[in-house]
Amino acid sequence: MSISPSWVDTHCHLDAPELLANLPLILAEASQKGVQAILLPSVQASDFDHVKEIAHQYSKQIPGLVYTLGIHPLYIQKAKESDLQVLQEAIEANLEDPRFVGIGEIGLDYFVEGLDPQRQAFFFQGQLDLAQQYQLPVVLHVRRSQDAILKALRQRTKDRLSFSRDSWI
Ligand SMILES: [Zn+2]
Repeated sequence: MSISPSWVDTHCHLDAPELLANLPLILAEASQKGVQAILLPSVQASDFDHVKEIAHQYSKQIPGLVYTLGIHPLYIQKAKESDLQVLQEAIEANLEDPRFVGIGEIGLDYFVEGLDPQRQAFFFQGQLDLAQQYQLPVVLHVRRSQDAILKALRQRTKDRLSFSRDSWI
């Protein structure tokens, strides 16, 4: 007896225009090959409804098809600061949705030229704030930015640890 393998794709932008036209075929083939779960991260506020729709629409083919909501560092140039508010509203609207599993894709990209590091930091920190506020995991985009990302995460871990320590005193 042979046991067929099952696979988890931890990061796939199924809503990318180059995949979208063939999505039914791609997901049918993935299902046939044993892909049980796919995490679909969003990259900009205007896509939030779409990634949710894809995750629900193809859940029969891929039972573990889940999504995250977030603003990707490569999309922050055209993002509006008010998109953080849009994200917060989307988080609240989807907290009960079992297919909504976190904040992403967020991060810092110091590899691509021409991205404003301060603007990247604004959106990254703002989205980490929301992740902490709602106790959600994050999907990170890290390119030549590992030191800055680790610093931001350590800072928050320290804050949380000191908060719990204080709360025990
Ligand atoms: Zn990605």
